[in-house]
Amino acid sequence: MTPFPRPDYADLDRYDPGRAPVAVDLSDNTNLWGPHPAALQRVREATADDLRCYPELYANTLRTAVADKFGVAPECVTTGDGSDDVIDSAFRAAYGAGQSVTFPAPTFSMVGDFARMNGMTPQPVPWSEAENDPGTLLDGDVAVVYLCRPNNPTGAQLPGEWVKRLLAAAGRVEAGPLILVDEAYADFAGETLIASAPRHANLLVTRTCSKAFGLAGIRCSFAVGTPEVVLEVDKSRGPYKVSRLAIELAAIAVRDEDGWVARTTAEAVAIRERLRKELESRGLAQLPSAANFILFAAPSGSAADDAQALRATGVQVRPFSGATELGEALRVTVGPWSLLQHFLDALDQRLDALKKE
Ligand SMILES: *Cc1c(COP(=O)(O)O)cnc(C)c1O
Repeated sequence: MTPFPRPDYADLDRYDPGRAPVAVDLSDNTNLWGPHPAALQRVREATADDLRCYPELYANTLRTAVADKFGVAPECVTTGDGSDDVIDSAFRAAYGAGQSVTFPAPTFSMVGDFARMNGMTPQPVPWSEAENDPGTLLDGDVAVVYLCRPNNPTGAQLPGEWVKRLLAAAGRVEAGPLILVDEAYADFAGETLIASAPRHANLLVTRTCSKAFGLAGIRCSFAVGTPEVVLEVDKSRGPYKVSRLAIELAAIAVRDEDGWVARTTAEAVAIRERLRKELESRGLAQLPSAANFILFAAPSGSAADDAQALRATGVQVRPFSGATELGEALRVTVGPWSLLQHFLDALDQRLDALKKE
């Protein structure tokens, strides 16, 4: 008899980043310029069939849009109900009992959970060690190497040359692991591996509609790899996973015919640099970011206390404890400057209060 729940589930928890509704939410890295306007228009024109009928089995309309955009074959594209779904399905397809999922740490907090949900062991490798030698990610019995590029929550971008070394090292491993590159924030870095993914065995590059596309509410994502990798992920994911409307809306945002994604992304990058200077002028240490957020040192030395103080003035950021060389830190999402001005006002109020303590 197998006990319920599975023993390795016992200390898994439901995801809870401790968010609450606030006036200015800068905690989840979604697009604060809004949803893709052409996608919103399509929702307004929804038909009875959009709701009554099943969607395409494997989201072919979206696969084709992605294939056209990045110059790959549609067989090289898989999709999912958010990239969480693609990551989970890819891990399940790669599963080996007792094997590990390695990743440069700190990184996306869900990765360790997805490893454990799928019966594998998370094996974090300290960021600087992995940065020095990508081969350390292949030490041991490894089923998956996960790499977030640019990385959440630090914003760090491992160089293309580094990725080449990792892929070369993985290629030398017989029956090598799956290399999963999470490009949730690649739009903001201006660099992507997506078009080259089908040229590498065992590489899967994931993208999400939740960030630059402004479509977190529809839960949709896509990924590119060889047809063999894509087939295994599709099998593990199952049919009908992306809804009819999500397929249509994601395809509209991928095509981006009016250039809205490109424009808001460029604005986010420019504003990120402006925010960087504002934090610098306040003497707060920060990490260089290639994404649409900045991680900076918590001014009081307690990320939780600072986040709570900011929330009391209607501004939400995401606290992190001891994950990086910053120690206690806050992650703030870049948005239109008017929102960041609220954030800076709240921050200044906090800094003043700390000075008086
Ligand atoms: C936000 C985010 C995602 C997006 O996940 P979805 O399930 O597509 O919303 C994926 N990876 C990272 C690192 C993220 O920060």
